[in-house]
Amino acid sequence: LTLFPEMFPGVLGHSLAGKALARGDWSFKAVNIRDFAADTHKTVDDTPYGGGAGLVMRPDIIERALLSLENPGRKIYLSPRGKVLNQALVKELSATPEITLLCGRYEGVDQRVLEAYNFEELSIGDYVLSGGEPAALILMDACIRLLPGVMGNEATPEEESFEPATG
Ligand code: SAM
Repeated sequence: LTLFPEMFPGVLGHSLAGKALARGDWSFKAVNIRDFAADTHKTVDDTPYGGGAGLVMRPDIIERALLSLENPGRKIYLSPRGKVLNQALVKELSATPEITLLCGRYEGVDQRVLEAYNFEELSIGDYVLSGGEPAALILMDACIRLLPGVMGNEATPEEESFEPATG
């Protein structure tokens, strides 16, 4: 779920992930949240509920975008406040059949929709990006390369960085 669907598949349309996408090893649907705005100006942002600086993405529009999905699966909001992604979590996510990634913009997303739909909050690191899309692409890249057949002979997952030593 994004305000910039044209950012996908982006870098993931190339190299190993791109070949895997062409083979159908993974697939994605980039849903434009703005398509669910009801007013003529297609407004998606508002002042935060309960006060605070800046603008956040409106919960009602995100809700409509989410409910348009047939099978949203595990719901993740990319957020600098979230749990920091690591290889163990990447492994877990790569074995999850359906995942919905919510990409924030502005000062983030109205908290009410995150709570109402039990979004997990995940960060790709302790720094602040301008939007969730680059974070989503990084999370996706890390997961896609672990899908069966994607890496070919290029690497052995068991011998990689962040894997517990064996033997
Ligand atoms: N005011 C927010 C804060 O301090 O938490 C920052 C919002 S940031 C400018 C806009 C969006 O970028 C966020 O809603 C989130 O989706 C994304 N984002 C920024 N940094 C991120 C990170 N480290 N990991 C994942 N997503 C991030």
